[in-house]
Amino acid sequence: MSELNIHGIGMTSQRTRDRLVDRLEQKGIHHKEVLRVLRKLPRHLFMDEALASRSYEDTALPIGHGQTISQPYIVARMTELLIEQGMPEKVLEVGTGSGYQAAVLGALVKELHTVEIIEPLYKNARDLLYKLGFRNIRSHLSNGAWGWEQNAPYDAIIVTAAPDTIPQALLDQLAAGGRMVIPVGKQRSTQYLKVISKEANGSISIEDHEAVQFVPLV
Ligand code: SAH
Repeated sequence: MSELNIHGIGMTSQRTRDRLVDRLEQKGIHHKEVLRVLRKLPRHLFMDEALASRSYEDTALPIGHGQTISQPYIVARMTELLIEQGMPEKVLEVGTGSGYQAAVLGALVKELHTVEIIEPLYKNARDLLYKLGFRNIRSHLSNGAWGWEQNAPYDAIIVTAAPDTIPQALLDQLAAGGRMVIPVGKQRSTQYLKVISKEANGSISIEDHEAVQFVPLV
């Protein structure tokens, strides 16, 4: 990380980041490891310099190509839901976008595969994650609705764009005992965050969580 200016001043300082994380805690985020990683990770590096001054507001922001970096609360909440039953080893993320959610997970789990469908976003995130020192994150350019079969099965899958229905390929690539966190629902109608568990015998159970607003899974 040394070549990058991660210390910064003003809006990019540790104090600003601490304030954001304090707010997330007040909103109910409680997983100690998630809070620790969010305090450390420089979110401003994952967005355009023109928007960097807003990077520690708890809101989604544009990253170009009609896409957004997810709201910090949602990143924290989805991460918490993914790991609350124990830390998964091998994880798949669908929708790399800025790479911020990938970095949060990369700091927590042993091996992360992340799939993005828009080439410039894939390249940016891949290069940034490498510069930040992550060596356990593998970026792939592909349609994530197909999952990433080469490295399946995954202990956990996180989807950061919303499909109308849960893609069968992702259910197939989830390991027995694994968990998937995914927003599901049509655009412009209410989407819900769902947690899907695959039991040891392969049966699936689904829990509904909060209403969310994600860009569509294409
Ligand atoms: N996790 C991201 C959120 C990005 S928004 C972050 O932390 O910044 C969702 C991303 O999903 C966008 O970059 C979009 O291009 C990507 N996406 C949408 N449909 C996809 C698909 N079928 N396969 C892979 N990526 C997809």
